[in-house]
Amino acid sequence: MSCIFCKIINKQESSEILYENDKFIVIKDINPKASVHLLIIPKKHIASIKEIEQQDKELMGQLILTGKKIAESKNLKGYKLIINVGREGGQIIDHLHLHLLAQQICP
Ligand code: 5GP
Ligand code: ZN
Repeated sequence: MSCIFCKIINKQESSEILYENDKFIVIKDINPKASVHLLIIPKKHIASIKEIEQQDKELMGQLILTGKKIAESKNLKGYKLIINVGREGGQIIDHLHLHLLAQQICP
């Protein structure tokens, strides 16, 4: 398996894992576009939104809920949840993931 996110999930590649359960890992983006830029990655290898099926609807719901939970744990007042789809949609890693982006205001 040459997928970088599968390697991170399987601990074959190092990464700072902020949260993990049986279905997802959450890591910091290596090239952050905002002061908070996290990736919520399903452990199931699905290449993109183009590949999801009816059987993935629960996983997709959990993906959004995990993004919300992480945002709440960081006390973010507002944030963006983004999924890039296909090269033309800005996707460079062909393993479905949700971006959580926010500007964290330091007190
Ligand atoms: P995409 O453009 O596919 O939606 O987003 C992929 C994201 O993964 C990019 O923001 C990129 O910076 C990040 N990324 C790529 N390779 C790695 C890596 O090895 N480790 C981490 N933590 N992030 C990565
Ligand atoms: Zn993968």
